[in-house]
Amino acid sequence: MSKNIDWANIGFGYMETDKRFVSNYKDGAWDEGALVSDANVTINECAGVLQYAQTCFEGLKAYTTEDGRIVCFRPDLNASRMSDSCKRLEMPVFPEDRFVQAVVDVVKANADYVPPFGSGATLYIRPYMFGSSAVIGVKPADEYQFRIFTTPVGPYFKGGAKPITIRVSDFDRAAPHGTGHIKAGLNYAMSLYAIVDAHNQGYAENMYLDAATHTKVEETGGANFIFITKDGKLVTPKSGSILPSITRRSLMVVAEKYLGMTVEHREVLFDEVKDFAECGLCGTAAVISPVGKIVDHGNEICFPSGMDDMGPVTKKLYDTLTGIQMGKIEAPEGWIHVIQ
Ligand SMILES: *Cc1c(COP(=O)(O)O)cnc(C)c1O
Repeated sequence: MSKNIDWANIGFGYMETDKRFVSNYKDGAWDEGALVSDANVTINECAGVLQYAQTCFEGLKAYTTEDGRIVCFRPDLNASRMSDSCKRLEMPVFPEDRFVQAVVDVVKANADYVPPFGSGATLYIRPYMFGSSAVIGVKPADEYQFRIFTTPVGPYFKGGAKPITIRVSDFDRAAPHGTGHIKAGLNYAMSLYAIVDAHNQGYAENMYLDAATHTKVEETGGANFIFITKDGKLVTPKSGSILPSITRRSLMVVAEKYLGMTVEHREVLFDEVKDFAECGLCGTAAVISPVGKIVDHGNEICFPSGMDDMGPVTKKLYDTLTGIQMGKIEAPEGWIHVIQ
């Protein structure tokens, strides 16, 4: 039975659910893992995660399709991106097939928290790993914990996706020592100051430019950029220091294969941005947030799509990808992973 939750009004926050998956790595091997009830983690005061931030995470969601199945979207890509994050942080990889199975198991165990079709809400799934044994010299931990919890989250946009205003950041994107293409808490911790500062100044997000030259568009704190040219092409920045968003990679396929658009994945100069017709931020949480305005130290770039609605091409991309996710439009092979 679905829980009695006011799905439309739960917001994007943490709500404890019944079960979480836990596996421990010790003496060079992962144990078989288990679903447990305790939502708290107990670790040593000197754990690698607490001293040297040895931790990474992933984010995906499960939801109910129109025909009543519980599914998730391309979890194999989260598994492989998490492997990349672990390798870069000297953490043991949790086998990718076991990652996907654990996602399935934990969602099944919390099936009552998967919001019904049409509610706009989803069950957010958070896999993560951290160094759990004590380390005082700067080196990787010997023991690790891999966990997955789930939390229902409300519709990202209440009353439709209103375009946001963002600013060009004075801070460089938080990608310490070349960790920009992994999903790690340290990148987020280092961006908190810039995010709070942006919000205090009235901006929804920061646009980070490349740290070396400040001429090329990178991404925001937690989403990749997509741009639509005046002649209807999709342009999205290519950079070794931004996170390879699964939503962005999926939108590139949707644009080309479903909408017949030309897709350019290339370096994007900030100087070009003023000539684009539409702009959006893409990621798992919102799929696409439209950007209406970018402020660069007092200079405003206002996209022709305006501040009232998503641009027409962005809307088509959004409707097609969410239609695929919800089972209304046939998905490419392997994109929809049925849980039950
Ligand atoms: C999670 C994240 C994204 C979006 O990736 P998705 O796989 O689409 O959710 C983009 N940038 C950063 C820095 C992220 O952490």
